[in-house]
Amino acid sequence: MAKERIWYVEDSENMDQICSRCRMCELICTFHHHGVGNPYRSRIRVVALGKGVDIPVTCLNCEDAPCVNICPTGAMHRPQPDSMVIVNPDVCIGCGMCVNACPVGAVILDPGEGTALKCDLCNGEPQCVKYCPAEVLKLSGSSQFSKHRMKGFARLLQAQTINTETGLK
Ligand code: SF4
Ligand code: SF4
Repeated sequence: MAKERIWYVEDSENMDQICSRCRMCELICTFHHHGVGNPYRSRIRVVALGKGVDIPVTCLNCEDAPCVNICPTGAMHRPQPDSMVIVNPDVCIGCGMCVNACPVGAVILDPGEGTALKCDLCNGEPQCVKYCPAEVLKLSGSSQFSKHRMKGFARLLQAQTINTETGLK
């Protein structure tokens, strides 16, 4: 069983179940954690990959997590073998090593505190999953969503190819 994480699950045949770029996930994340609506402090990011192609990105909860392996102070850690990787801000020195090590850009340095920020699954009740209007975010420890993900990436790649051929962005 895979470790729990947030999955992006779209239905490319149903336009109501595709990321609409509303960025509600970014806002609700910062409201929940910081009491402000500031996307620069969000632990989930809607990333534009091409014209009309957007995907919310957050921590993959890697099995052998590069961010944990490189952290010099132990601030980035996994408290239990099956739990989410989290940050201890009291020990974080803001060196940014984890930011550089993460393959998907899921760690940022808090513009306010200077310490690392990443998804913590909101203690098991992720607010982005709860409030996403398109319902494309799911919390799961199963790999059941992999085939949906592959469909999503196929759509993204197709759009990227079209953009490359036409020069349109
Ligand atoms: S923050 Fe990045 S490197 Fe660390 S577990 Fe999440 S996806 Fe992996
Ligand atoms: S699960 Fe929580 S921390 Fe992670 S992106 Fe969603 S709201 Fe932010």
